[in-house]
Amino acid sequence: MEEHKELRKGVQTVCKDYPGNYWQALDKEEKYPQEFVQALTNSGYLATLIPEKYGGSGLNLRAASVILEEIQANGCNGSACHAQMYTMGVLLRHGSEAQKEKYLADIASGKLRLQAFAVTEPNVGSDTTRIQTRAEKVGNTYRINGQKIWTSRSMYSDLMVLLARTTPLDKVSKKTHGLSAFLVDLKKATQSGLTIRPIQTMMNHSTTEIFFDNLEIPSENLIGEEGKGFYYILDGMNAERLLIASECIGDAKWFIQKSCEYANKRVVFDRPIGQNQGIQFPLARVYASMCAAELMVQKGCEIFDSGLSCAKEANMSLLLSSEASWEAANAAIQTHGGFGFAAEYDIERKFRETRLYQVAPLSKNLILSYIAEHVLGLPRSY
Ligand SMILES: Cc1cc2nc3c(=O)[nH]c(=O)nc-3n(C[C@H](O)[C@H](O)[C@H](O)COP(=O)(O)OP(=O)(O)OC[C@H]3O[C@@H](n4cnc5c(N)ncnc54)[C@H](O)[C@@H]3O)c2cc1C
Repeated sequence: MEEHKELRKGVQTVCKDYPGNYWQALDKEEKYPQEFVQALTNSGYLATLIPEKYGGSGLNLRAASVILEEIQANGCNGSACHAQMYTMGVLLRHGSEAQKEKYLADIASGKLRLQAFAVTEPNVGSDTTRIQTRAEKVGNTYRINGQKIWTSRSMYSDLMVLLARTTPLDKVSKKTHGLSAFLVDLKKATQSGLTIRPIQTMMNHSTTEIFFDNLEIPSENLIGEEGKGFYYILDGMNAERLLIASECIGDAKWFIQKSCEYANKRVVFDRPIGQNQGIQFPLARVYASMCAAELMVQKGCEIFDSGLSCAKEANMSLLLSSEASWEAANAAIQTHGGFGFAAEYDIERKFRETRLYQVAPLSKNLILSYIAEHVLGLPRSY
């Protein structure tokens, strides 16, 4: 039986107002889906994980994952706002009461957007502990210098969670120490040392690179304790992986549904193309892969929601569901023949969009390395 039926129906109602042509128009001009994000904010879905005491709905990760899955399954794109759900967790779990009171209610009401998460840097890639962006304590401020890349949605967000090094790498006993997390007020920062440059990508993703040139931020914007930022970010990553895995499940469902509809309708050689096993089998196979991945997502969310560590399940969820959505995207293109490449069918747009999830938020090889090392007990390969 399908869980969270009412929640799914509610999301479907919002998504109905944003059909394919809305996304096609944005895609052409690489524009941010302001109206869609506003509608999701107004309906409260982006505040699902914010506790009721701060004005959110205080639901669990599974509920949030169903919301994102449903957005994708209805042909929309949650990547414009999914970060608010998991980035907010760093503040919720590690921020001071004063920070939570100051920001969470405004995030829940939609007055403030916390959509940007600046971790990746051009020179270090997946090797996060080597990031070079520095935050130096100067009186009551931290002075930030350095560069980030792929900081998505920074042009459409009020706040950004930043990971920077507060103690140089050669002065810490462990490379995961000495990194700190900060909340950056983007509007203020762009007037005093922060420059944002958009990056053009194969899909409409509003991603950017960011340069810090002696940007000063108040010390009160440090989240939690100085030097522990890596751990704070890390514990939010399981939620991020499970949520993005749910989006992949939604994408896979969308591709499969569109393909089956088309395969039943399209007649070639006097019969529906769906009657051919060459069309049926790839769809049947990916349906099975998607269902298996979905079970792993459900299991990961269940473990997360019970407060236990779900690193293994979160990683496996992202691996299996991003592969399933990509397999579904390929099957959809093949099923639609030439029309798969026509923008008005949305297949090619979703095809480009779903490809990302085998690279970001974490590339597939690193997930496999995690499983090999931490689950199977094999030697670390890097
Ligand atoms: C559109 C987009 C949006 C993004 N949004 C954000 C964001 O909002 N915030 C943010 O901080 N980051 C963001 N990212 C960055 C994303 O998380 C990284 O791109 C991703 O983690 C991979 O890092 P990299 O690109 O530096 O690749 P690299 O680390 O350079 O890796 C390149 C390739 O080498 C492989 N590789 C590297 N090391 C190993 C190893 N030891 N063993 C086997 N294979 C290895 C990788 O698997 C990959 O295939 C985004 C990226 C994209 C493309």
